[in-house]
Amino acid sequence: MIDLHTHSNISDGTDSPRELVNKALAAGITVLGLTDHDTIAGWPEAISALRPGIDLVLGAEISAQTSDGVSVHILGLLFDPDHQELAQVLLQTRDNRVGRMEKIIARLNAAGIDITMEDVLNQLSEGATLGRPHLADALVAKKIVKNREEAFSDLLHNNSKHYVSHYSPSPERAIELIKAAGGVAVIAHPFASLRGRVLSVESFTGLAAAGLDGIEIEHRDQNEGERGLLREIVQAFDLIQTGSSDYHGTGKLNQLGEFTTSPDNWERLESRANQRRVVRA
Ligand code: AMP
Ligand code: ZN
Ligand code: FE
Ligand code: FE
Repeated sequence: MIDLHTHSNISDGTDSPRELVNKALAAGITVLGLTDHDTIAGWPEAISALRPGIDLVLGAEISAQTSDGVSVHILGLLFDPDHQELAQVLLQTRDNRVGRMEKIIARLNAAGIDITMEDVLNQLSEGATLGRPHLADALVAKKIVKNREEAFSDLLHNNSKHYVSHYSPSPERAIELIKAAGGVAVIAHPFASLRGRVLSVESFTGLAAAGLDGIEIEHRDQNEGERGLLREIVQAFDLIQTGSSDYHGTGKLNQLGEFTTSPDNWERLESRANQRRVVRA
């Protein structure tokens, strides 16, 4: 089973990279993508946890934003970690997430909700990318909400009055940087309309021109209608379709391997990287 999109506690998942690799092996995953939000800091531990039977695809889920404010997640896989411009953009995004969190907290405080930056940082593993799920966990710890789901649906969703975005590159720029760094670029859950506004069908023309390689179609946040439309886009631009779990440990219901990428499609995708970068024990 090939699962190219998972998170560890180096962003908003709950398993360490080592635990993630172990659980993936136990779940029968043979090719595992590690795609923490805007960071590659989990790569060394994941590599050191490798054992025979599982291939590791190192990557990151890069936060991007269109000029009209639509949030887009781009999976960058198999890129060169020493590419300076890409590393710089990821660093800028991570830095900006701190001030952004302070703004969201200020809005919650103004609405009478008692939560501090310290509460949020207590939920974060060392060196991890800060995100709304950590704020959700802090709200759970203070018994303000029951779980992450309730935190998002009541207070933190993209259309809520407490929402603040952070710096992110445009989707085209993110794709160009991933390609410049020798990797492959796949748009994660592009039509996950439950989460907020999504890309227009027309925008795929520019994304394909920027070098997009694939589209994540099989994902629990996309319904059958959304998947059907994405299959047409994949056909129209000769892209590669993937499916993945977007596993976050206990942070979300998503289970490892609940959606997968076919071996054929994975082979086509991997062949588009400028070097063989899959890591094996
Ligand atoms: P951020 O990167 O800080 O904008 O937070 C976005 C992240 O929150 C997403 O990548 C998901 O991992 C998580 N998320 C979004 N919606 C939900 C939800 N309804 N329940 C739990 N986690 C969510
Ligand atoms: Zn996440
Ligand atoms: Fe995502
Ligand atoms: Fe994700």
